[in-house]
Amino acid sequence: MSSSDYPVVIVGAGPAGSAAALTLARKGLRPLLAERFTFPREKVCGDGLTFRSLSILKELNLYDRISSCPSALPVKEARAVTAEKTVFAGPIPTLPDGSVGFISIPRRELDQILARAASEAGAELAENFSVSAVRRNGGTMEVTGNHKGREKTIRTNLVIGADGAQSIVSRQAGLYRLRPRFCEVSIRAYFTDLDEPVRWLELYYDKRVIPGFAWLFPLAGGIANIGIGIRMDHLKNRSLKNLYREFISDYPPLKKRLKKAKMLDHPRGTLIPGYGQSGKIFSDGVLLAGDAASLSDPLVGEGVGEALLSGVAAGETAARAVSAGDFSGSFLRQYQKEIRRRLNPDFRFAPLFQNWPQIHKAAAAMMLRAERDPDFGRIMIGMASGAISKREIARWDFLAPTVMGYWGRKK
Ligand SMILES: Cc1cc2nc3c(=O)[nH]c(=O)nc-3n(C[C@H](O)[C@H](O)[C@H](O)COP(=O)(O)OP(=O)(O)OC[C@H]3O[C@@H](n4cnc5c(N)ncnc54)[C@H](O)[C@@H]3O)c2cc1C
Repeated sequence: MSSSDYPVVIVGAGPAGSAAALTLARKGLRPLLAERFTFPREKVCGDGLTFRSLSILKELNLYDRISSCPSALPVKEARAVTAEKTVFAGPIPTLPDGSVGFISIPRRELDQILARAASEAGAELAENFSVSAVRRNGGTMEVTGNHKGREKTIRTNLVIGADGAQSIVSRQAGLYRLRPRFCEVSIRAYFTDLDEPVRWLELYYDKRVIPGFAWLFPLAGGIANIGIGIRMDHLKNRSLKNLYREFISDYPPLKKRLKKAKMLDHPRGTLIPGYGQSGKIFSDGVLLAGDAASLSDPLVGEGVGEALLSGVAAGETAARAVSAGDFSGSFLRQYQKEIRRRLNPDFRFAPLFQNWPQIHKAAAAMMLRAERDPDFGRIMIGMASGAISKREIARWDFLAPTVMGYWGRKK
């Protein structure tokens, strides 16, 4: 690997990095995609591809390749479940062309497919390359790391930091942020031998994980991905693992489902950096994408769609920078504008809702209304699956009947 052969180096081959590499490669450039592990590798996730993810995979011409993979499961129905009962069951909205709007696929498979697609298009995938430092030296960037046991420094014009929630690139560029009230900590485990085969999503309502979420996502082969996520500052001094074990063992609908089930591996958890804390995501010679830029959905913790979206946008901006020969922050600023233009309408209000002191009551009111009003239930499922914008929550004509219904019941 010679030292200055790469116009762009992408650090991290998750969905953000592979989407950036694929975009650049399809434009005829040959970026380096450095990944610290060797594929296939695990990534802690709910393994759910929602509306945004699937729409972008369509645009990238990868939808069919992913949906036809044996470990991919199309899921057509979602259920909202409380400790006592299922309050709403309804269809998950399809994509505009009628394709299924939710697919579950283990990240072990998905990420490998995306990285291979980038490499087939012409990106150079360097697995087992753990980046430890990113420095600016005059007009060029130097990326240093350990590649297959040997220290290496690569010179490039532009670095795309797609290295996830603990991003080295964002730290080295002075762009790292951690604001617990805008982040979730989330944990999941795989189970088999459930009491009945589940082919729908189950979204659980429980006070212990609000603000946050709890789910069961079915996977192919009768496996279920069951997890919880909670706003980081609400975890306080508790252990996420203990909270998870307590939840799955005493939450009635799960207790029943898991009576004879086997946990396939121990529960694994990590941070999901939410959009509310996202700040500057560029500097001279650097762009950040995906979790490294804190772009995940603040309400449901979805981040693959945002990683793909920002990866594509970072790849497009990088290609423009290469053709203009300008890698300055003032040129790269257009990337941040594009991300805000695409995500602000959907996410701007979500942190307000997430940080609202009465969030428990709001969530309870929504469950109550979903039970009584199927149209409302469909909107809630649409929002959870990403087909309907979170903006809808902030509309008074949407909120008022929910609040009134809750008060009416309380009287
Ligand atoms: C429990 C849980 C459940 C979730 N469920 C869902 C869900 O169902 N649907 C959804 O859309 N989102 C979900 N998310 C969020 C989603 O997983 C992330 O938002 C998404 O993976 C972000 O993609 P990314 O490409 O930015 O980063 P990542 O997927 O984290 O990829 C980063 C890559 O960079 C590599 N890397 C890191 N450091 C270095 C380094 N120094 N050198 C080289 N390589 C490096 C890593 O190995 C990794 O391959 C969930 C998250 C959690 C924790």
